[in-house]
Parts: sequence; structure tokens; C-alpha cells
Amino acid sequence: MTTAVIGAGIIGTTLAYALQRRGRNVVLIERDQPGTGASYGNMASIAVTEFMPASRPAVWKQIPGWMLDAEGPVRVRPAYMPKLTPWFLRFIAASRPAKLRELEAQGAALCQRVHDDLLPLLRETGLESELSEAGCLSLYTDEAEFKADREHIEILERFGFPHDVIGRQAIKALEPELSDKIGLAVLFPQNRSMKNPYQLVVKLALRLRELGGKIEQGEVVGFERGAAMRAVLLKDGRRIAADEVVIAAGVHSAKLAKQLGEPIPLETERGYHTQIMAPGIAMKHSIIWPARAFMVTPTAGGIRVGGTVEMAGIDAAPDYRRSKVTVKRAKEALPNLQCEDFTEWMGHRPAFPDTVPVMSASAKTRGLFYATGHGHLGLTYAATNARLMADLMTGATPPVDMKPYRVDRF
Ligand SMILES: Cc1cc2nc3c(=O)[nH]c(=O)nc-3n(C[C@H](O)[C@H](O)[C@H](O)COP(=O)(O)OP(=O)(O)OC[C@H]3O[C@@H](n4cnc5c(N)ncnc54)[C@H](O)[C@@H]3O)c2cc1C
Repeated sequence: MTTAVIGAGIIGTTLAYALQRRGRNVVLIERDQPGTGASYGNMASIAVTEFMPASRPAVWKQIPGWMLDAEGPVRVRPAYMPKLTPWFLRFIAASRPAKLRELEAQGAALCQRVHDDLLPLLRETGLESELSEAGCLSLYTDEAEFKADREHIEILERFGFPHDVIGRQAIKALEPELSDKIGLAVLFPQNRSMKNPYQLVVKLALRLRELGGKIEQGEVVGFERGAAMRAVLLKDGRRIAADEVVIAAGVHSAKLAKQLGEPIPLETERGYHTQIMAPGIAMKHSIIWPARAFMVTPTAGGIRVGGTVEMAGIDAAPDYRRSKVTVKRAKEALPNLQCEDFTEWMGHRPAFPDTVPVMSASAKTRGLFYATGHGHLGLTYAATNARLMADLMTGATPPVDMKPYRVDRF
């Protein structure tokens, strides 16, 4: 059976590999080069403790204020607001207390599996050394800041995610470069990071080829189907026959889903990074500072600083003032951080208004599947997405209830 997977980001490539391993003839179709979309420059974190719905009131109540603050952690470009409104209304609808409890459980069900799915995948592909040893530190200046983040910690406790609250001395022992301003931290030992998320995709694509899978460069612009899928059509006129098609095109999945008669409310939550090649400091752990809304990750090519959300659509030019703000904040936590030799990048997190991804068979067409909308956790969820989708597609029973992630839930 031939399966065409559209999109060679971390989601499509990992799934393509898993399907090829289960005996499918996989063609992975990518319009650019594998790993050059959102998966290129993310913050590299296996962020299993970050599954909380973005629609919780603690977040959205601050949005009007942030809109007026160009340096705020969430920025909505005013000109984009009319286009964003339908998505935003669904976002607000996802903030009812009962809905939030459901969404938390749906995110936690995935995050609880992440290491069980990721570690075997890395072992099998010989990529174990891509995963860091150290976890992540969440930083707080004092007890008051820590209390403001209490809801997050309480949710983690409810779902049994391990974490340790540590004081100034222990923080300094773990990360000597951190400022004395930091009085408290929570260590999340499971939040490890990948050394180079882009290289991870490239290497997985190579492993796919070694198993006999194909990678075609081309942009999918159409489909041939009746009751079942027959082929995908490329911009350059080629036709690739396929019994199964998976839409895994990141934020561009919305356009393809619409063509296939299954519109999905997928938006881009644009995010920025600054890769600092000669940071002048060494770090082992990644750090997040919730009150300052940034993250720092030690990667193979220096230190990566990033975070923030910008709602401005797919086509607007990047606004790199946002990366400069995160570097400024990172220097508050890491006073010796030097930022002279650096690159800046913007990427599109494919995000649904209810935060959970779509991992689903089509509700309309046989042989059509969707794996998209993994939002802030696409790298984290990749191996789990591949395991669950491969089960779903090959007739095995996935180990979690897949109903919450279906494509026709909106
Ligand atoms: C600043 C930032 C920080 C982040 N940090 C983290 C983190 O620390 N941890 C984490 O888990 N996640 C993080 N994320 C989120 C994560 O990067 C994404 O969820 C993930 O990369 C999405 O993967 P994807 O494969 O769905 O999409 P993409 O990587 O965007 O891949 C989709 C691919 O589809 C291709 N494509 C699109 N349309 C077509 C078409 N018509 N035909 C052929 N090909 C097509 C594109 O060219 C692209 O290569 C972050 C994201 C950003 C922006």
C-alpha cells in the first residue's frame, strides 16, 4: 500500500518513518527541504509539562493589555484582528472550566506517553545522543512570582508529572550563570531538550530513505479522489498515486484540508528565536521564566533564546524586535550572556484554538488522514503522534482514546 505524507517537518517525517517501518511504501512530499518549516528553529524542548490549554483565563484575560504592549508575550497585530476573530471566539469558548479540565486531560494523556515513544524511536534510529541529559528549570524571583504560577504546578501535580522545588543555593549549584535575582526554581527532570531539532528531521529523513521510503520535492496543490484517495497532484504537473494520504503540512495544512472539504480552524502562532553562537557562558539545563515569558536552551550550535507569540498570519514579514526583547529578558536571568554573534529566525506554530492537535482519519474520505496543529509542542509530540497515527492507520488499537483529537471536532 502506498502512503503519501505531505510535509517533511518533524511531524510528517517521524510519521513517515513509523509507517515505512510498519510495511507501508511511503512517499514523503516536501515543497522545500525537510525540516525547514517550524521544525527548524523551535526551542528544542521536550516540554512534557507544558500541555496546559492556552485558553485558560489566566492567559486570555491579559491579552487586551498585551495587545497594547509591543514587548508583551502575546502580540496581535491590529490589522490581523478581523481575520483572527473566528479563531479567537473558539479560543474563548475553550476557556469554560469544564472544557479546560477536558483539554488538560487530553494534553496530559499525550505528554504522559512522550518518553515511552521518544526513547525507543531515538534508540532504533541511533539518535539517542541527540537528547540532552539535563532537564528544565522554571525560574521565579520570589515566593509571590511562584504563587502566580501555582495553577500550572497544581495541574502537573494532578497528572503526576515529577518536579522539584529548589532554593537559591541548589539553583546556583545546577546553573552557576543564573542571576542572584532568582530565588526559587522548579526543576522538571523530564523536560529534556534535543541538541539540534533541524538535524533531527534531516537524520530521520535519512533513516526513512534507508528503510526504502521515498522523499519527493514538490508542492502539493491538488488531489484525486472518489470515496477513497487516489493521488496527490504537484504544482510541477506530477501525479503521485497513493492509497493513503496524510496531511502533515504544519500551518499550511489548513489550505489543504479546505480543498479536501474539511476546513479546520488552524492559525499560526508565530514565534521567534535568537541563536547565539558565542554566548560567553555555558549551561546544562534549559530555562523558562514564566513571568518574563522567554526560554533559553543550550543547543549544539550555541545558546538559543526564544518564545513569545505573535498573531499576524502566515504572510506578514517577521518583526525581529520580538527576538530582541527576549534576549533583553534572558540577560536579566543570565547577566554574563553575550549576544554579538547571532542569527534570528521566525517560525509558524500550527495552533488550534483548543490547544490539542488533530491526529485523525478523515470524517469524509477513505484513506485520508490528518496529523497537524501540534502548536507549541510539535517536537515534544512527534514520536507519540507517529506511534498513535501509525496504530490508527494500520488497524492496531492506539493506547490512548483518539476521539478528542479527531478532525471533525470543531
Ligand atoms: C519559536 C518556536 C519555538 C518552539 N519551541 C518548541 C519546543 O521547544 N518544543 C516543542 O515541542 N515545540 C516547539 N515549537 C513548536 C514546533 O516547532 C511545531 O509544533 C512543529 O515544528 C510543527 O511541526 P510540523 O511538522 O507540523 O510543521 P513544519 O515543521 O512547519 O513542517 C510542515 C512542512 O510542510 C511543508 N509543506 C507545507 N505545505 C506543503 C505543500 N502544499 N506541499 C508540500 N509540502 C508542504 C512545509 O514546507 C514544511 O516543511 C516551537 C515553535 C516555534 C515557532
